[in-house]
Amino acid sequence: MLITVAEALERVLSQAGPLPPEQVALEQALGRVLAEDVMSSEDLPPFDSSAMDGFAVSAGPGGELPIVDESRAGHPATRALGPGEAIRISTGAALPAGAGAVIPVERVEVDGERVRVPEVAAGANIRRSGEDVRAGELVIAAGAQLGPAEVAVLASLGMPRVRCGGVPRVAVLVTGDELVAPGEPLQPGQIRDSNAYALAAQASRAGARVIRRAVVPDDPAATEAALADALAEADVLCISGGVSVGPHDHVKPALAALGVEERFWGVALKPGKPTWFGTREGTLVFGLPGNPVSAMVTFHLFARPALRRLAGAEPSDSRARAILDLPLRQSPEREQVVRCRLAVRDDGFHVEPTKAQGSHVLTSMLGADAFALIEKGDGELPAGTRVDIELLK
Ligand code: AMP
Ligand code: MG
Repeated sequence: MLITVAEALERVLSQAGPLPPEQVALEQALGRVLAEDVMSSEDLPPFDSSAMDGFAVSAGPGGELPIVDESRAGHPATRALGPGEAIRISTGAALPAGAGAVIPVERVEVDGERVRVPEVAAGANIRRSGEDVRAGELVIAAGAQLGPAEVAVLASLGMPRVRCGGVPRVAVLVTGDELVAPGEPLQPGQIRDSNAYALAAQASRAGARVIRRAVVPDDPAATEAALADALAEADVLCISGGVSVGPHDHVKPALAALGVEERFWGVALKPGKPTWFGTREGTLVFGLPGNPVSAMVTFHLFARPALRRLAGAEPSDSRARAILDLPLRQSPEREQVVRCRLAVRDDGFHVEPTKAQGSHVLTSMLGADAFALIEKGDGELPAGTRVDIELLK
């Protein structure tokens, strides 16, 4: 009995909990998921400063003023500004006590130790402390993925390390006597292994660490040995092929022998029907179809959300809606995943298929920005229909 895509995802996520968080040095934090709310302990910027190179003065009418001191970045003035005085100041330097405005250097005339300044409004060219962030404010919430901007803000908050979700350890196992690594000559009947590369790349993109890659022959003992090794050290196993019901499909019996409990087998999905999922204690095991497109589609729909959840992130952050630019025939029994190019127009996202959609046509993934999710049905969805999409990122 095939289950729906939504039901399958629910069963996966019900088995996937966040890994224990750990402290991560800021230099290593890019791409990690924040496991704590980050509040600022101080105002940002920390003090009132000048937005320009120029002169700090009292606000008000212009005149010719004595230059009594200097405030440079990192070297504040050593005295306060008195009425009728000017202090030379650089961009980012602390505003001297008593100053009410800064006049840019382009608008003054310097004559030795004196400066002629025009009239100036209170507050001109001053950056106030706390203008960006106030002490005690929530700046980045737990669950955020750390990109360059987050890393920069954490540095500006003075945090040399942050608490991040764990990095899931993934084992990628591809099965098949026909598989040949890139670089090896092809003998009759052999094909090149692409799934090991696809799944490892997808796992890395999802924030996981690929700790093991193995090509497993279609042999019961070899399959069981490879799976046992992977189960001993990975949080998640992604297996491709060998999961169907042919005489040379040894994955399911091997998993059963190793105590992995089946959670589902078979999804009403095209491509991707022969998808298997099971668990052993906290370890998640995905038996993905061997067909290269099916393997990538099912990884994205089921394994990626699990990896995101393990890492402490929101698992389904890649859903959106888009308008079909071409009609699409529905499949009567199964939800369909169509590899699409994405365009953004005034009325939102638009999608159209990249090319022919056979589950063996791996190049249909080239240029695919999104999967369009087409509900099962007997008809054809006309161009202009709004559908769910999964953004590929
Ligand atoms: P299977 O699920 O093992 O019956 O494989 C289904 C189809 O996917 C067969 O045509 C296999 O040759 C192909 N296939 C299996 N594994 C891979 C792989 N690692 N890379 C590319 N194609 C594969
Ligand atoms: Mg096979």
